[in-house]
Amino acid sequence: MKNYLTASISASAIRHNVGVLRKHVGDGVELCLVVKDDCYGHGMNVLYPLLAELVDGFAVASPVEALELRQKGYHGFVLCFLSAYFDDFEVQDELVWQEITQTVMSKSALASIQEAARRVGKTAPVHLKVDTGMGRMGIPAKQAPDLIEAIRACPDVRLTGIYTHFATADEQDRSEVFEQLTLFKSILPPDGNLVCHAANSAAIIDFPETHFNMVRPGLAVYGCHPSEFLSNDIGLKPCMSVKAKLIAVKHVREGSHCGYGLSHTFDRDSRVGIVPIGYGDGYFRCLSGKAIVRVNGQDAPVCGRVSMDQMTVDVTDIPDVQVGDDVEIISSDSSAPNSVENLARLAGTIPYEITCHLGHNIIRHVL
Ligand code: PLP
Repeated sequence: MKNYLTASISASAIRHNVGVLRKHVGDGVELCLVVKDDCYGHGMNVLYPLLAELVDGFAVASPVEALELRQKGYHGFVLCFLSAYFDDFEVQDELVWQEITQTVMSKSALASIQEAARRVGKTAPVHLKVDTGMGRMGIPAKQAPDLIEAIRACPDVRLTGIYTHFATADEQDRSEVFEQLTLFKSILPPDGNLVCHAANSAAIIDFPETHFNMVRPGLAVYGCHPSEFLSNDIGLKPCMSVKAKLIAVKHVREGSHCGYGLSHTFDRDSRVGIVPIGYGDGYFRCLSGKAIVRVNGQDAPVCGRVSMDQMTVDVTDIPDVQVGDDVEIISSDSSAPNSVENLARLAGTIPYEITCHLGHNIIRHVL
């Protein structure tokens, strides 16, 4: 049943998105693509060859993801948003050996990296992460100069970059972006030979002053808008569509019900299609009774509750529907009712969560 589920990723949409982002940031600004969480659910295994040829480097959330990129044969710049755990010597050494750029945000992390670099006999490149207001990872801005000095005093660690992350670039009130930016600029070392980066997709699109010499787009490369509040439209194209096949079609009488809790009542004699996807595959249960899929290109409302691996859709108004017909669960058309962005709105969440949740039963392939 699960094999009926496929996610098609359009290589031309991704090429287009990288192209418009490059044009938008201009020459001299490197594109470090954020590929954490399996390329935001799009599938690293299928996307890697395409992405590797398009971008200047990758950023990942964990040492495991960083080392996987090396296993795939990527020799370029890889930034890991973390460093290895303080007592995980094996991973610490491997990160240094594989020349992964680790993030430093404390003197204790710095000491671990220095030790690993000495053990391995290589210089470890690091980027310093500065917390300028997000209140999450990073050394508080006031303490950054002291940590920069400490890194530079380490014989086997080389400071190659410095970065921060914005808390509100995708919010309606984005005044905090300017405060974070001012603070970030105030602690940048004067020597000017570091890679400096701050901008995620929303900041790249709306705040050119945040670009420095590297940007870190994630969602925009996959073609979704990170926020409804952006002022600029750079013409992104969503790259993913998710499809299934109808596995059953049933006639039901007016007044009958369907799904857990019998929450849906048919107000006329109807036809119901069963689609083999559910919340176990990442299709949000809260979309029950709210979302639309497309059967043979026509809108079919999701009726009744979404179960773990099935859901029911009303196909009464679609002529000649049969078992095996195409069901488009997610559309790559951003204006469609079943676009990632619209599903996120209906589910009360963000596009990131919709794509990241898509399960491994959905077979990804690049078109
Ligand atoms: N930089 C950091 C530190 C992040 O954590 C993320 C994503 O969460 C990004 C950049 C990319 O953000 P976006 O997908 O909004 O471009």
